[in-house]
Amino acid sequence: MSTTPPAAVTAAREHIVAAVPKQLLVGGTWLDAADGATMAVDDPATGEVLCRVADAGAPEGRLAEEAAVAAQEEWARTAPRARSEILRRAYEIILARTDDLAALMTAEMGKPLAEARGEVAYAAEFFRWFSEEAVRVDGGYGTLPDGRNRMLLMRRPVGPCLLITPWNFPLAMGTRKIGPAIAAGCTMVFKPAPQTPLSALALAAILEEAGLPPGVLNVVTTSRAGEVVEPLLRGGRVRKLSFTGSTEVGRTLLAQCADTVMRTSMELGGNAPFIVFEDADLDAAVDGAMTAKMRNMGEACTAANRIFVHRSLADEFARRLAERMAALVVGPGTTPGVDVGPLIDAAGRAKVEELVADAVGRGARVLTGGTVPEGPGRFYPPTVLTGVDPGSRLMETEIFGPVAAILAFDDEDEVVRAANDTPWGLVGYVFTRGLDRALRVSERLEVGMVGLNTGLVSSPAAPFGGVKQSGLGREGGRAGIEEFLEYTYVAMPA
Ligand code: NAP
Repeated sequence: MSTTPPAAVTAAREHIVAAVPKQLLVGGTWLDAADGATMAVDDPATGEVLCRVADAGAPEGRLAEEAAVAAQEEWARTAPRARSEILRRAYEIILARTDDLAALMTAEMGKPLAEARGEVAYAAEFFRWFSEEAVRVDGGYGTLPDGRNRMLLMRRPVGPCLLITPWNFPLAMGTRKIGPAIAAGCTMVFKPAPQTPLSALALAAILEEAGLPPGVLNVVTTSRAGEVVEPLLRGGRVRKLSFTGSTEVGRTLLAQCADTVMRTSMELGGNAPFIVFEDADLDAAVDGAMTAKMRNMGEACTAANRIFVHRSLADEFARRLAERMAALVVGPGTTPGVDVGPLIDAAGRAKVEELVADAVGRGARVLTGGTVPEGPGRFYPPTVLTGVDPGSRLMETEIFGPVAAILAFDDEDEVVRAANDTPWGLVGYVFTRGLDRALRVSERLEVGMVGLNTGLVSSPAAPFGGVKQSGLGREGGRAGIEEFLEYTYVAMPA
């Protein structure tokens, strides 16, 4: 496996990286951190530094907050159609620049170019969806049941928002929050993950080009997240936090939001069960597992973390899955034909290694993969483990890597109990041909989303989100804009 991209690819990438702003966006001005701090952005396939971007500290966080607060009133008064059209224009620009945005994402995050292109389309779709939602916000009018009062329901934006995103879907996690915030009339301070600031900065530049007024979107890239964010959460001027990331960090931020009783949306971690019943279409189940496990190299909150297969199918399922996994090509995301890119960083890969070693130590059998390759880059091979002990650590934590852990089960009650035996509840996958069972198990799983005979649930038109410690609120669908709107109820005599 060569990790050196061809010279033409390197030159094109340098050109694309060079075109992205490297500064903070505050009140419509691109600026450096006052202390001149910058942080490196590297390529996970080689470890090579791609560029440096501004590294905001607390003062720049304050400036961004001030800019968002100052712009809020006027932005809330903007015609919904004007907000809608900004989103629509940005949607079109994103699609027109698919190749450059995909190359940028692959460079800083590692996913193969084909997947990066898929993410660009998915990310753009949030802007199209919310451009349509912006003009459909409605209130209400009625008479109260006792006939004495009338009720008028007004809608208004929640106010300046803080948006925090992870590195695994660098563009889509941004548009999934920025789209509804713009549609609802909220201003924003956006703090992307430090590993993937370039996609966020490119997105901000596109929104400027699409006509977003100064101060509506402010971007602070930083390696000092706590320093920048905590004062904003405790300060009382930001009215909402929309966070996507780990449950652990989400919990810390929720505690900080408690001071000001701040409204929050929390898209947190998952521990998805993937259940294959004895009446499943085995081909469809293996296809579904490939998608649910391998999308984004397994670095997805929706990744199938625990694969439960009915004992009668377990060996055949594992054999077919291992065959498909072993055939995947691992390498730099820029190389044509590569299916599996590097993991995000050394710590992420070390965690995967430790989880596999723990499972093997408890008796799991490795059907394919399981060994870290030599050489640069943070690659980990597609791996299939069978006979996984339920006490293994990978059953209790997000693997966040290309490792399929398979357990056999005997009956429905047992597998539903096992699937629900986790503090998380983001998504579950169910493969069965029986309609009764499909509906019954979908009702019994403690999750926010179910993939029924499919390994992919994400769609801008659907309410994405979890229950239990996987989060609060929903992104996308009709619910997505609600997260950024308030009600004012006016009572008046009838
Ligand atoms: P993370 O470590 O929780 O970080 C997420 C974001 O929070 C980053 O921008 C991070 O910046 C920031 N952050 C961390 N500590 C902070 C603090 N004290 N104050 C303010 N901001 C802070 O998660 P990640 O490793 O980037 O992403 C992977 C996680 O995201 C997984 O758990 C995955 O399941 C979850 N995820 C969930 C969804 C969903 O929709 N439910 C979607 C995608 C990913 P720093 O890195 O600088 O700290």
